[in-house]
Amino acid sequence: MFVLLFGPPGSGKGTQAVALAARLGVPHVATGDIFRKNLREGTELGQRVRGYMDRGALVPDLVTCDLVGSRLEEQDAAGGVLFDGFPRSVPQLYWLIGHLGAGRRTLSAVVNLQVPDQAILARITGRRTCTNCGATYHVVTAPPLADGSCARCGAAVVQRQDDAEAVVRDRLVAYRAQTFPCLAELRDRVTVHDLSGEGAIDEVRRRIFAALAL
Ligand code: ADP
Ligand code: ADP
Ligand code: ZN
Repeated sequence: MFVLLFGPPGSGKGTQAVALAARLGVPHVATGDIFRKNLREGTELGQRVRGYMDRGALVPDLVTCDLVGSRLEEQDAAGGVLFDGFPRSVPQLYWLIGHLGAGRRTLSAVVNLQVPDQAILARITGRRTCTNCGATYHVVTAPPLADGSCARCGAAVVQRQDDAEAVVRDRLVAYRAQTFPCLAELRDRVTVHDLSGEGAIDEVRRRIFAALAL
């Protein structure tokens, strides 16, 4: 099953993706996480994308689609994946539809997490991210362990550079200009579940599971 988690930065996609992917029995494919892993490891891809990420701009479509194309060739992706943070532009969406279609696969559903801008800023500026496994925390609503380490893997939990307020504002501009227009295109093709991303993390998870009849 190919399912897409859609929503602005900070809407809770990464947080919800973990439980949802486990329930669907498919891998969680988050392009942002893959880019960050390449940054940490200093790969050639990491060097190509760093400038875009640091200033809150989208990585070029060709680079991003190439990366997703390779990920989809891995064996665990054969039966489906949960996309998080991809597609993020209309050209990426068309690429995905074409790519899945060529393998006689289709998108099954979209979950669109809606969160107002004021809440987003508070969420992202308080977000902390594990340097090893990518798990996300929040200084107030979902803190890491008392010594500041990751509850899942024990590594250090830090603030992402692009979670500084000035960069977040640019990411929201990029979301509105380049990502939001994907929604209308998606609605023409697949069921889009518009859900509130506000409330407790468990509550949002229950909302998503109910919408997808899980
Ligand atoms: P968010 O928390 O905003 O959803 P992500 O971790 O998904 O953040 O993305 C962080 C950054 O990685 C983006 O600002 C962008 O530079 C890059 N990125 C991630 N996914 C994509 C994509 N599908 N297309 C282009 N750039 C992407
Ligand atoms: P995205 O992947 O969409 O950018 P995240 O899942 O990383 O968003 O969530 C952004 C921040 O908001 C994180 O610090 C996370 O812990 C926090 N968060 C996620 N869901 C909720 C929620 N329902 N209520 C409060 N804070 C949340
Ligand atoms: Zn971790």
